[in-house]
Amino acid sequence: MKIIMLGAPGAGKGTQAKMIAEKYSVPHVSTGDIFRANIKNGTELGMEAKKYMDQGLLVPDELTVRILLDRVAKDDCKNGYVLDGFPRTIPQAQVLDEALTKLGDKIDYAINVDVPDENIIKRMSGRRACLTCGATYHIEHIPPKKEGICDTCGSELVLRDDDKAETVKNRLDVYHKQTQPLIDFYSEKGVLKAVDGTLPMEEVFAAITAILG
Ligand code: AMP
Repeated sequence: MKIIMLGAPGAGKGTQAKMIAEKYSVPHVSTGDIFRANIKNGTELGMEAKKYMDQGLLVPDELTVRILLDRVAKDDCKNGYVLDGFPRTIPQAQVLDEALTKLGDKIDYAINVDVPDENIIKRMSGRRACLTCGATYHIEHIPPKKEGICDTCGSELVLRDDDKAETVKNRLDVYHKQTQPLIDFYSEKGVLKAVDGTLPMEEVFAAITAILG
């Protein structure tokens, strides 16, 4: 099963993607996580991506597509995957589509987690992330057991630079201009499904599993 998660930054698609990955035993592939891991390890790719990420801009398609295609070519992706944060532009979607078509394959579902901008801005300022293991929390909705500390690995939680208010505004602008057109793209392919992302996390997940079966 090959699934794409669509939705504005902060819509909760990452949380849902992880839950889907667990329930359906497919890898959760997040381009944002791959970039952050590279930044943490000080790789050349990480340094290049950071220039864009810190401003709330998209990393150029060429670089992003390369890391994504490398990732989904790995053995663990043979039976499917959940893509979280990719594609974010029409050219990215086209490259993925072409790569899958060559393999006689296709995306099964593009799930749009729909949340209005006002809710997004409120939500993102409460997000906290663990830069060590990639776990994400929310001070109100998904608090860690101990304030400021990651449940999974015990590291300190931070407000990511790209979750700060001015960056969030940029990211929403970028989302509306560059990523929202993907809703039509996948709708035309007949694989688009929408869920109300303003509902509590468990209800959003129930709506998704009703779609995926
Ligand atoms: P995310 O964790 O998915 O919200 O991604 C964090 C940041 O990484 C984004 O704001 C972009 O700067 C960059 N990024 C992640 N995925 C992509 C993508 N598919 N295309 C371009 N930039 C991306």
